[in-house]
Amino acid sequence: MAVHAHPDDESSKGAATTAKYADEGARVMVVTLTGGERGDILNPAMDLPEVRGRIAEVRRDEMAKAAEILGVEHRWLGFVDSGLPEGDPPPPLPEGCFATVPLEQATERLVRLIREFRPHVMTTYDENGGYPHPDHIRCHQVSVAAYEAAADYRLFPDAGPPWAVLKLYYNHGFIRQRMKLLQDEFEKNGMEGPFAKWLERWDPENDVFEKRVTTRVECAKYFGRRDDALRAHATQIDPNSFFFAAPIEWQERLWPTEEFELARSRVPVRLPETDLFAGIEDHVDKLD
Ligand SMILES: [Zn+2]
Repeated sequence: MAVHAHPDDESSKGAATTAKYADEGARVMVVTLTGGERGDILNPAMDLPEVRGRIAEVRRDEMAKAAEILGVEHRWLGFVDSGLPEGDPPPPLPEGCFATVPLEQATERLVRLIREFRPHVMTTYDENGGYPHPDHIRCHQVSVAAYEAAADYRLFPDAGPPWAVLKLYYNHGFIRQRMKLLQDEFEKNGMEGPFAKWLERWDPENDVFEKRVTTRVECAKYFGRRDDALRAHATQIDPNSFFFAAPIEWQERLWPTEEFELARSRVPVRLPETDLFAGIEDHVDKLD
């Protein structure tokens, strides 16, 4: 179960990994907490009055298409996008939006879905949200709370029989070393490359690769599908954006993995790992 804040996050964070596991026969469910109603239209070609007037509906269609491309099941949790507050100081959050819903209320909804779907593994964001969008930080809080609560029969007794998810991971997609390798490849080929400014401004404090990544999943075969799924969110992504600048062949060769951090586990593990399900088969066999 991959838990995400907005439609399109599932296609930019750990997407190739979900496509891989689905392709290998696992049941994979993407859960989207909010409808993405406050997302800006980031693709100039899609910034049309008829799209702006029905953005919630458009984003539902885009999400359905992306889920189909990734080969995953999909569920909405039904909360309302909080938007990214901009300004100094930032304006207050809109009334009723996801980030203002009491934690317990949001947790109960996710617990209900966990107890129904019964995943062995969950993925979500770290405590910084991957980037500081209030819905991403809330996504982290709700996922961790639901991972714990779903297994506890005393909590939310009306939300189904308890289910213990065995492992919880954080996505780590924003990695300096990867960006650097790709940027160097652009330069080797006499091209400018889109990452120079990012790399220049990078705060070493934000380096997660050595400090936090525990698990690297080889999934290069699915990079094409990841990009197709991302492009399915046509209002959210400019097809000319830097996301698509590095040829897939370079990515396959230079960085064929997606990165995760094992945050909690109920099975014995040996780190580093190359598989989100490592240790689970033994455990499930023993239960049989
Ligand atoms: Zn998001």
